[in-house]
Amino acid sequence: MKRIAVIGCGLGGAATTLMLQKTGFQVTAYEQASTFTRLGAGIHLTPNVIKALAWPDIVSRLVAIACKPSAFVSRDAFTGEVIAELPLGQMVAEQFGAPYLTVHRGDFHALMVDALQPGTLHFNKCLRSVSEDCHGVRLSFEDGSEAAADIVIGADGLSSVVRGMVCENSPPHFSGQVAFRALVDIDQLGEHRSYLNDLTKWWSDDRFIIAYYMSALRDQYYFVAGYPQETWPVGVRSLPAQREEMMERFADFHPAARHVLAASREVRKWPLYERPAETAWSKGRVVLLGDACHPMRPHMAQGAAMAIEDGAVLVRCLMAAGLENWSVAYELYQQARNERVKKVQGISSENSWMRTTPDPAWLFASDAWNDPLIGKRLL
Ligand code: FAD
Repeated sequence: MKRIAVIGCGLGGAATTLMLQKTGFQVTAYEQASTFTRLGAGIHLTPNVIKALAWPDIVSRLVAIACKPSAFVSRDAFTGEVIAELPLGQMVAEQFGAPYLTVHRGDFHALMVDALQPGTLHFNKCLRSVSEDCHGVRLSFEDGSEAAADIVIGADGLSSVVRGMVCENSPPHFSGQVAFRALVDIDQLGEHRSYLNDLTKWWSDDRFIIAYYMSALRDQYYFVAGYPQETWPVGVRSLPAQREEMMERFADFHPAARHVLAASREVRKWPLYERPAETAWSKGRVVLLGDACHPMRPHMAQGAAMAIEDGAVLVRCLMAAGLENWSVAYELYQQARNERVKKVQGISSENSWMRTTPDPAWLFASDAWNDPLIGKRLL
C-alpha cells in the first residue's frame, strides 16, 4: 500500500492525518516537538471548519467542550457603541449546517491528536531535508533517522522546511502589526464580570481588542489586542510583555475593554505574519498546506480553518485521482483552493471582517467535502 508522510502535526497536520486515516489511507505524521503540549490560547471555529472535520465523533466531542457564542458583537473602541452584530448560536448552526464555536486551541488540538491511529504520530522528528526519486521520497530528520514514503504533505507551519522543496523559501512577511495575547483571570474582574461578553471586538482605526470565552462552561476567557509596530526582531516568535505597556497602548479605549485587559494573566506579544499564496503549492511528490503555504493575519480567524479545509480538499483530490496520480491530485487541489484562500487572505490583511455586519454565507456555507471541485476536467 502507498504511504503518505505528513510533516508537522499542528492543527492542519493533525486534521489532515486524521482525515487520511478516516478515508483509508496509510499515513504517518512526524512532529518536531518532543511531546504533545497544550499550546496557544483561543481559536474560533467557524461552521466551514466544523464541516471540514466531518466525522460526528470528532464534532460531538468538540461541541461538548467549546463555547457556542450567541453573537459576534463589534463595538466602537472609545464609546462602546455597537457598530456591527452577527447573530451566531442556533441560528447559524441551522442556516449553515454546523455551529460557530470558540475553544482553547490546545483542547481542539488534543482532541484531534487523540483520535489518530495509535503509533502513527512520531514526536521528536524534526525534518531536516527531503529527497525524491522515481520510487518515492526519503525524509531525513535532525536526530539522524530517516523514513520513506510515496508522497509528502508539508504541514510544518510558518517556518516550513518542506516549503524549500517546493519554491523559493524566503521568510514570511512581518505585517507591521503586533498583538498582545493573554488569558483573563475572571475572578479579578469582580463586579466588572458583566463586561465579559461571549465574543466582542473593539475597533479603533489602528488598534483592536477581541475577547471571548474558550470553553462550554464559560470559565476561560481570552483576548488578543493588536496595534501597529514598524519592526519586529527577525526570527523571534514571541516576547514577554508588561501589562503596563499594554494598558498604555490602549489607554484611550472604553473602560469595559480596559477592565478585560487589566485582568490579564501573563501577557506576551506576538508578531503577525503573512505571505501571499502566489507560488506553487507542490512540486514533484511534495505538497504544502496551511501556514506552510499561505500564512495570513488572524483578523478573520481563518488560518487554521484554511489549513483544515486544505486538508479535506487535498484528501478528496487524492481519493478522486488515486494516490499514484499525485501530480493530478495536487494540481486539482491548488485550483480548487487558490481563489478562496486568496480572498480570505485579502480580507484578513485589511482587517475589515466584522467592522460592519457581513453576509457570512460565502465563508460559512462552504463545505470542503461536498462543494464541486473546480478543475474537474483534470480527472
Ligand atoms: P501549525 O498549527 O503552526 O503547525 C505546524 C506544526 O509543524 C507545529 O506542530 C510544528 O511544531 C511542526 N513543525 C515545524 N517545523 C517542523 C519540522 N521541521 N519537522 C517536523 N515538524 C515541524 N486560526 C483560526 O482558524 N481561528 C482563529 O481564531 C485563529 N486565531 C489566531 C490568533 C492569532 C493571534 C494567531 C497568530 C493565529 C491565529 N489563527 C487562527 C491562525 C492559526 O493558528 C494558524 O493559521 C494555524 O495554526 C496553521 O496551522 P498549520 O497546521 O499550518 O500550522
